[in-house]
Formats: sequence, structure tokens, C-alpha cells
Amino acid sequence: MLKGKTALVTGSTSGIGLGVALALAREGANIILNGFGDVDGPKAEVAALGVKVGYHGADMSKPADIAAMVAYADAEFGGIDVLVNNAGIQHVAAVQDFPVEKWDAIIAINLSSAFHTTRLALPGMLKKNWGRILNIASVHGLVASAQKSAYVAAKHGLVGFTKSIALETATTGVTVNAICPGWVLTPLVQKQVDALAAKDGVDNDEAKRRLLAEKQPSLQFTTPDELGALAVFLCSDAAVNVRGQAWSMDGGWTAV
Ligand code: NAD
Repeated sequence: MLKGKTALVTGSTSGIGLGVALALAREGANIILNGFGDVDGPKAEVAALGVKVGYHGADMSKPADIAAMVAYADAEFGGIDVLVNNAGIQHVAAVQDFPVEKWDAIIAINLSSAFHTTRLALPGMLKKNWGRILNIASVHGLVASAQKSAYVAAKHGLVGFTKSIALETATTGVTVNAICPGWVLTPLVQKQVDALAAKDGVDNDEAKRRLLAEKQPSLQFTTPDELGALAVFLCSDAAVNVRGQAWSMDGGWTAV
């Protein structure tokens, strides 16, 4: 379905981003990976699917890095057809204790980076009159939790940003949507499982059970594969009229 197209997935060396990148590659899309940590493993996993794979190490908190990554996509891949704004970080603390540099980093990486990638990639999509922008928001783009003020503010902002750009592109072949996962067991969430295990004096399995029981009625983690399948649907022709949505995949979290 996506043969000949190029997808840039930010923060795709791990977790949800890697799951989405693999799902798009299975549909034939060439993939540009981004993110920190091990790069060779994710690159090999994507390359095994028979598509062209590239990597750019842009720090998504830095607009100049983001511009360099989009220039790399233009030069090496002929532009970006599918943009997945996924890179994100978390920090958990009460607002009066929230480190200022963590607030700034979360707003930069989880929200402002999507502005920079979009403003730079959208003109190329409009020229081809085809494009897909998927913003990986969160249930926290729709509802709040205590101790996560920066994350909740950034993700609500990302959902609002999604709606604005969907309106700006409504008569074009470019669609813009957000995906709102509930708990997904990635390194970002494992840190919160570890904190809960330490606080309650329980083992890893019990901490996972308690974390789910608190918020996610299905009592099951959403998976990167499920999110990848949703991303593939949103890239399909059948989804051309899905515009400006914040699509939850949260085991019922926001149904309460
Ligand atoms: P993760 O920690 O597994 O992956 C995060 C990715 O972002 C990694 O590839 C990391 O290297 C990259 N990254 C972090 N800071 C970066 C920076 N400054 N520049 C470039 N790359 C950077 O986390 P995840 O759970 O897969 O999260 C991915 C996205 O999904 C995030 O936006 C997160 O907020 C969102 N999300 C996660 C969950 C969950 O339960 N895990 C739920 C809802 C939304």
C-alpha cells in the first residue's frame, strides 16, 4: 500500500515509534529512523522487510537539528510522504517540584518538535497533493493525571495542533490525525512501573497489574503492533476523510 512512499518516524529506535515504523515498512514504505540508543538493531529490523532505511540522529528538542533531518530526507529520499511525530519523554512530579529544565524539554520534544517537522515537511506533501501526518499524542491529550503537568499540557497541545493543521489542509490530499494510546509497556512506562514497585514494595508483575487497574479497564497494555496497524489504516485511502481526530487506543481509559 505504501510502496514508493517515505515515512519519517521520530523517536523510532524504541517502543511505539519502532512498532509504527515496522508496520509502515511492512506496507512497503521506505523508512527514516530517528532517536537515541541502539540504532543498528532497529535499522536491521526495518531493512529485513526489504525497504530502504535511513537514520538521522536529530535531537528533537533542537529546531536546527530538525531542519537538518528534513533536509536529509529531501536529499536522500526525495521528501517525506508520511510524517509520524512520535518522539517523547515523561517526567513525573508535583508542579511545585517540577524541574524547570524538564518542563522545557517535555514541551520542546513532545509538542514543539511536531510544529517544526510539520512546517518543514508539509510543503512537499502539498506539492504532491498526498501526505499523512500522524501525531502520537496520548490519553493525556484528552484527560489528565496528577503529577504529569508538562506531559498533559504538551499532549493536549499536540491534539489542538493536530486539529488546526487538519483544518488548514482539509481540501487537500494531506490528512492530519493524532493517535492517543493508553498504557503501552515501553521503556517510558517501565520507569513508572519500577517507581510503583518501589513505592508499594511489590514485584514487577504486581506493579504492572496495579498500574493497569488504576486507569485501563481492559487490564491489558496497548501494544506497538496494534498502534502500527492503526497507523497503517490512517495512511490508507479509506481513511481520507478521517481528519483532525484524536483516535484513542486505550483499553477503555477515556470511556469512563
Ligand atoms: P520510548 O521511551 O520507548 O521511546 C521514545 C523514543 O523517543 C526513543 O526512540 C528515544 O530515543 C526517542 N527520543 C527521546 N528523546 C528524544 C529527542 N530529544 N530527540 C530524538 N528522539 C528522542 O517511549 P514510547 O513509550 O515508545 O513513547 C513514544 C511516544 O508515545 C511518546 O510521544 C509518548 O509520549 C507516547 N505515548 C506513550 C505511551 C506509553 O504508555 N508508553 C502512552 C501514550 C503515549
